[in-house]
Amino acid sequence: MQNIDYFKLQAKNLYKDYKTRKLSAAGDIYEYSPKYYDITGIFLDYDIFDDDPKFEFSLMNAQHLIAKLVGFKSWNDLIKASDTQLEIAKIKLGCFAFNNYDPSKIEDYEFWVSKAEEENHTRFDDEALLVLARYYILGEGQENIPVNVFADPEPVQYEEVNIEDDPNTQPVMVECLHCGKRFLSNETKLIRPKGDTDSEPEEVCKYWPECDGQIWDLIPVEDMEGE
Ligand SMILES: [Zn+2]
Repeated sequence: MQNIDYFKLQAKNLYKDYKTRKLSAAGDIYEYSPKYYDITGIFLDYDIFDDDPKFEFSLMNAQHLIAKLVGFKSWNDLIKASDTQLEIAKIKLGCFAFNNYDPSKIEDYEFWVSKAEEENHTRFDDEALLVLARYYILGEGQENIPVNVFADPEPVQYEEVNIEDDPNTQPVMVECLHCGKRFLSNETKLIRPKGDTDSEPEEVCKYWPECDGQIWDLIPVEDMEGE
């Protein structure tokens, strides 16, 4: 699995966790029953105030938040990162897991890195940082430190779903960032895991399965030219 696909999937997982949002029985706070991430802990630690009934959190927000959690300014920066940097990011992301939430491990790692850099008057390269992340965050080479990395999941088979487009929606021209092709937004395909009729179909590039462009890779041409 490509590193970038791994992070896309993790953003999706975070978003899925968010979708479990429910008003508590007392009606005063929102609760989650997450499978992947400690979403309550993350929202608290990152000052995301979700107690407004009108609070909204999209898949794009989830991507942005994933990028922030692992130390990038934005999703765009994450996409441009090297494979080694993304390996480090993967390790960091494990610190936000639902069953093992402990971002303080990232702080420890960063503290020891900057201390060692200062003492040795040096800057570690990415390879050295990866070794240190494995040591301080995963506890490799240390004893009795719980380890948690989201494993690469089994590949899922997808099938196409046919759903009538809403005739009231005006299609716009979009460009797929993966294959570079342009088509109308109502020409996209809808797919879902094979036989999983309960899951909400996902919108993908018109040229799926040759192209693996997903909904967030399809940018309205108008927006691209406006930049
Ligand atoms: Zn495409």
